[in-house]
Amino acid sequence: MDLGLKGKIGVITGASVGIGLAIAEGLAAEGTNLVLAARGGERLEAEAARIGEKYGVSATAVAADVATVAGTEAIIAAAAEKGGADILINNAGTGSNETVMEAPDEKWQAYWDLHVMAAVRLARGIAPQMKRRGGGVILHNASICAIQPLWYEPIYNVSKSALMMFSKTLSTELIPDNIRVNCVNAGLILTPDWIKTAKQLTAENGGNWEGYLQSVANEHAASKRFGTPEELANVFVFLSSERASYCIGSTYFVDGGMLKTI
Ligand code: NDP
Repeated sequence: MDLGLKGKIGVITGASVGIGLAIAEGLAAEGTNLVLAARGGERLEAEAARIGEKYGVSATAVAADVATVAGTEAIIAAAAEKGGADILINNAGTGSNETVMEAPDEKWQAYWDLHVMAAVRLARGIAPQMKRRGGGVILHNASICAIQPLWYEPIYNVSKSALMMFSKTLSTELIPDNIRVNCVNAGLILTPDWIKTAKQLTAENGGNWEGYLQSVANEHAASKRFGTPEELANVFVFLSSERASYCIGSTYFVDGGMLKTI
């Protein structure tokens, strides 16, 4: 299936590892030129160079913190330098661990800036570029936790829920400019971060981190396995394409059967 993504320009945040990196590879494999953002410049630049060479696309690395105004401005400027973006994937984010009773205001604010304000600021800066190019696609990587919470991470649940609603609201505002906005809610996706956590949690009890991850999958997902970043990236790539032309303002679950409602 030709997805018609060759020569498009895609911006991906959190693109140096895990899901964002898999989306970058997926889009590059379709011939999309990339602007890749993450805080750590070294790892990002290495991945951008590797992807550019492997797929014959241009891949620009922007070391930027998306939770800041300056960071989002740098990303918007890099996209403008390439002629403007056609695709924006708001992917950067991270889990949390706290109780509502103990977490300070500063932590709530930090997650709000990372999960919500980054998407708001990037949409404000990049949607006008898309409009000038005749349209575009904005995708938000929220989480199944946006509607089915994990109790140890209330700040994550709440901020991802807000991101999902932002996506819905933005979609109506931007569709007159032919910009399609959608949200993806993933379940358990096996990224290096999960492996690191599993190794830490099992270090003092024999180090069976793979067994720990299997127990997490058994507990949460009907499929009893984690998804790969590539399985999730495939959905992002499809939604980025014209083949998804009637997908507007929705949230798509990619969760291996983890969602407990219809
Ligand atoms: P990883 O921790 O593996 O990667 C996160 C990426 O985001 C890295 O490139 C990191 O680079 C970047 N990043 C983090 N904070 C910032 C910031 N402030 N500014 C710019 N870049 C940043 O995460 P995953 O791939 O696992 O997750 C990606 C997204 O998917 C997240 O939003 C997460 O909530 C969501 N998700 C993940 C699931 C999973 O099971 N893995 C399930 C559901 C949703 P650097 O540290 O250098 O900035």
